[in-house]
Amino acid sequence: MTYFANDDISVLRGVGSKKADALRHMGINTLGDLLDFLPVDYREREDFVKFSETVEGAYALIKAVYTGEGVRGYGRAGKWTLNFFDGETAFPVVFYNQPYIKTSLKENSEYRLYGRIYPGLKKGSKVLIAPVIEREDKAQYLKSGVYPVYALPVKNGIKQKEFSSWISQALKETAITEDIPLKISLDYALMSAADSYKAVHEPESLKQARDGMRYFLMKKFMAFHYGINISKSDREEKGRKMDPSYSAEFTASLPFELTGAQQRALSEILSDMSSGRRMNRLVQGDVGSGKTFVAVAAAYVAARNNVQAVICAPTEILARQHFEKYSRYFEHFGMRCTVVYGTMKKKEKDAALKLISSGEADIIFGTHVLFSSGVEYKDLGFISIDEQHRYGVAQRALLENKGISPHMLVMSATPIPRTLALSIYRDLDISIIDEMPKGRKPVITFLFNSTQDAKAYSYVRQAAAKGLKSFIVCPAIDSEDMENVNEVYDRAVKALAPYKTDFMTGEMNEEKKKEVMSSFAEGDTAVLVSTTIIEVGIDVPKAVIMWVKGAERFGLSQLHQLRGRVGRGDDQGYCFLQTDSGKSEALTRLSVLKNTTDGFEIARRDMALRGSGDIFGYRQSGKSGDISEYAVQYPDLFMASREALDRLSESDDERSAALFDRIREESKKYFSSITMN
Ligand code: ADP
Ligand code: MG
Repeated sequence: MTYFANDDISVLRGVGSKKADALRHMGINTLGDLLDFLPVDYREREDFVKFSETVEGAYALIKAVYTGEGVRGYGRAGKWTLNFFDGETAFPVVFYNQPYIKTSLKENSEYRLYGRIYPGLKKGSKVLIAPVIEREDKAQYLKSGVYPVYALPVKNGIKQKEFSSWISQALKETAITEDIPLKISLDYALMSAADSYKAVHEPESLKQARDGMRYFLMKKFMAFHYGINISKSDREEKGRKMDPSYSAEFTASLPFELTGAQQRALSEILSDMSSGRRMNRLVQGDVGSGKTFVAVAAAYVAARNNVQAVICAPTEILARQHFEKYSRYFEHFGMRCTVVYGTMKKKEKDAALKLISSGEADIIFGTHVLFSSGVEYKDLGFISIDEQHRYGVAQRALLENKGISPHMLVMSATPIPRTLALSIYRDLDISIIDEMPKGRKPVITFLFNSTQDAKAYSYVRQAAAKGLKSFIVCPAIDSEDMENVNEVYDRAVKALAPYKTDFMTGEMNEEKKKEVMSSFAEGDTAVLVSTTIIEVGIDVPKAVIMWVKGAERFGLSQLHQLRGRVGRGDDQGYCFLQTDSGKSEALTRLSVLKNTTDGFEIARRDMALRGSGDIFGYRQSGKSGDISEYAVQYPDLFMASREALDRLSESDDERSAALFDRIREESKKYFSSITMN
C-alpha cells in the first residue's frame, strides 16, 4: 500500500494531466473518488474461442498472433486491415481511424482480441471489426468471466479498458479504511470495506459483485433515511382546502372519457385536495395508462381554486411536449400556461419567470429547474412530478425550506411493491391505475436473433411507406462491446433509403434533440436510432415499431417501458426484441414480454428470474444512484438500513461517530444534487 484515499488521481500510472482533467470533470479527484465510482452494470465474456468457431453478429474473445498488415483494399480512408493467426486460421481484423494501433503492434507477438464478428466482403467470409486489444503477456483486462461496466461519458475519451486499469492500480495500492462498525457489518452480513471494493470492481462472479454492493448501499440507504427523517412532514399537516367540483367541467371537455381507473385515482386525489390536509400522493400505472391526464385534471382543479399549478417532467423534451400537448386544454378555459427549462433562451426564460412571479401564469410546465432558487412563485399550490420519483422527496424538502407547502402528486410507471413504496416515500398515499384506455391494442412482440435484420427492416419499410414511425434502440454506453448508435445508424441509413433515418443520443444538446424529435414526431424522419433516452414518456402517436437491439442487456421492466412508446395511436404496434445471446436464460427472460403486457406482472417475473442474472436490471444506462431503483433490488437491506441508522446514531464509539458525520454530509449532498441544474 503506497497511497491513501485522499491522494490525487495523478499519482496513478497512465493518468497524465489530460486524463486527470477528464476524470476531474466526472467528479473524480482522488483515489478514493475513483474507487467510489461504482460500475453501473456487469457483463460476462465467454471463454476464448478459435476464429473458426465465431458466429457472425456475436462478440468473441480470441488469442492470436499478429502477422502483419494486410492489403489496403478499397473502402473508406482510415481503414486498416491487419492479419492475425490463432494457430489454426489466419484472419483479418479491421480498424477504423486508429493508425496508432498498427504502430503499437509487434509482429509475431501474441494478443488478446475482443470484438464483434461481421460478414466479410467475400460471401461466407468473416471479419473481426475494431476489437479491444491487449498484449498476451501483459493482459489484465480481457479475460473471460464477469467484468464491470462504468458509465463513462463518451465525449471525454476515457475507455473502459484504461479506466479499469486505473481502478486495478488503485485497488492494489490504496490503503482502505474500514468505516462501518464491526457490530453492524456482522449483523447485516456486510463484507469488509476492502473486500467490498474488490468485489464490486473485480468480481469473480455476479453473486460476489452483488454481495459487495451491500456495503456501499448500506451507507447510501442510511444517508437517504437520514435525509427523509429530517424532511419528514407531519401527515396531519394542514393543506389548502380546495373545491373539487371543477373537475367535472374539465373532464367533460376532453375528447374521450376517463377510464374507470383514472376516475378512481382522480377522485382519491380530489378528496385529498379538499380534505384540508396536504396531499402527498403517488400515482402508479403502466406506461400509457393515462397518468398524465389525471395530473392535468388535478392541476386544472388547483388553478380554478386560484393557486398556481406546476407540471414537472423529467426531461426538457418531455416538458416541451407536455406544454405543447396540454396547454390547449387549459387555454380553452382562459387559463394562462407557460414553460421553463434549463437551456431556454435567456429572453424567453425571463419572460416566463416574470409570468410566474407576477401570478399571470396559472399552469407552469417545465423540468426540475422549476424548483431552483431563481424561480419565484406568486402562489404555488399544486405540483405534479412525472416519471421521476427520485425528485419527489427532495424537492418537497426544498420547497418546505422556502416556506411553500403545495399539494403534491408524484407519478411513476415503475412498479414498486407497495411496502417498499411506503418506506421510500414514508408519508405517501398510493393510487393505482390498472386499466388501459379503451381501444388500445396490445403491442405484438417478436423475438429476433441478430441474423434477422433483413426481416426487421422489411417491417420498418412497410411502416414507413404508410407514413408511420419506428424506433431502433441500442444499449450502448460506449461502443466497445455492444451495438451502438453510430454503427446501427450507418447500417439503417443504407438499409432503409429512401426513407429518412435519424439518430439521437443523450449527449446531444437540447436544441438538436428538439429538432430531431420534432422531425420524427411530425416531420419526414421515419426512423429514429437512439439510446434509451427515449424511454421516459415520449409520446409519438404515429410510432408503431420499437426495435430493441441487444435486448438481453435490458431489464424486462425497462423493455416494457420502451414497448409502451409504440402503438399509442390507432395503428397496431410491434416490438422486436433482438438478441445475439444464444443463452437459454436470456431467451426465457425475453419471452416473458412476448406473453404478458401487465407491467406489475413483468416486474415480478423479472425479479424472480433475475436472481443471479443481470443485477442492475432497472438501470437506465449511464445513470446510477436512484435510490428507488436500488431499493427495489435490495429490499431487505433497504428496510434493515433504517434500523441500522438508528443503532449508529445511538452508538458513541469513534468509528460510529465518524460514519454518522459522513452520512450526514452524504445526505446533504444527495438531497441537494438532485435539486440542482
Ligand atoms: P402515461 O402518462 O400513463 O404514460 P398518458 O397520460 O401519456 O399516459 O396517456 C397515454 C396516451 O393515451 C396519450 O396519448 C393520451 O392522450 C391517451 N389517453 C389518456 N387517457 C385516455 C382515455 N381515457 N381514453 C383515451 N385515450 C387516453
Ligand atoms: Mg406520462
